Amino acid sequence: MAVLHNRVSQAELKKRLHEETTKRTTISFYQYFPVAEPQQFRDELYKALDALQVFGRIYVAHEGINAQISVPENNFEALKMYLYSIEPLNGLRLNIAVDDDGKSFWVLKIKVREKIVADGIKDPAFSMENKGRYVNAQQMNTLLQDDNTIVIDMRNHYEYEVGHFEKAIEIPSDTFREQLPMAVDMMQDKKEQNIIMYCTGGIRCEKASAYMLHNGFKNVFHLEGGIINYAKQAKENNLTSKFIGKNFVFDDRLGERITQDVIAKCHQCGQPADTHTNCKNDGCHLLFIQCATCAATYDGCCSTACQTVYNLPLEEQKELRKGIDKGMMVFNKSKKRLRPRLDQMNKK
Ligand SMILES: [Zn+2]
Ligand SMILES: [Zn+2]
Repeated sequence: MAVLHNRVSQAELKKRLHEETTKRTTISFYQYFPVAEPQQFRDELYKALDALQVFGRIYVAHEGINAQISVPENNFEALKMYLYSIEPLNGLRLNIAVDDDGKSFWVLKIKVREKIVADGIKDPAFSMENKGRYVNAQQMNTLLQDDNTIVIDMRNHYEYEVGHFEKAIEIPSDTFREQLPMAVDMMQDKKEQNIIMYCTGGIRCEKASAYMLHNGFKNVFHLEGGIINYAKQAKENNLTSKFIGKNFVFDDRLGERITQDVIAKCHQCGQPADTHTNCKNDGCHLLFIQCATCAATYDGCCSTACQTVYNLPLEEQKELRKGIDKGMMVFNKSKKRLRPRLDQMNKK
């Protein structure tokens, strides 16, 4: 039987990746489509992609596929042909990462999951087959001119804070699961209006659009390929960007500037600022917005308390961190974690 999993050590795989002479292209894509046998589909996919030396992380579920992968440049066309040969994926939009060294992945992992985007939807009648209509950048701009249009941002608060579409409404919850029913409630009397939903890459808002339709909304749209694709199209076609500020992304930059507007404020002094940073105290690592002046004043820390710890000898810092929940030290997207601390800071 064919081996459908990797069996080589992590260290060896990383070493091989760095010894590779061919360049890799980093690609992301997703598609909602009915997958009758996810495990079987997963195994076939593994065989085909492994043969093309694809690395990365892919989730397969009854509702579709979500992938972040890299492929050797000279196999890109073959990969595309293979994906397009799967009927529901024919013509699929492949998002190619720019400014990427192709070294993010060194192994291929394909996992079968309950959903490609966890949604908490219990209703068995809900289906991704009835989705909102796609809008491109041009159509988005046109729809935005209509007073009858409502724009809903399906991302987290900290993303909305530094950049969003003009007039966009925020759904104030920490998780997508909670946002779905909340969006329905908030829009209850707007069932006849145009509703456009958007997110960073499109995968969440596409599901949200289906959920709105499922709940009786009539004119639901979603931004194809999300903000990333909008920014790209707006640039290519010289359109005025109706997205203002920065698009938050999970790489070292923590955000890509779309327009020059700075719409957020420093969480410490309240001056205009939209640079996210993680508190330099490793025992905190809070994600927050800090201006250059405060970065200097607080040594990149979120508070004087963290600054004091940060300036202690490393051994003492480690001692202080003992017994602290390790979850505190990892990058945490939850607004719940952000808010109480920020509230404390504001009171100081
Ligand atoms: Zn400041
Ligand atoms: Zn801190």
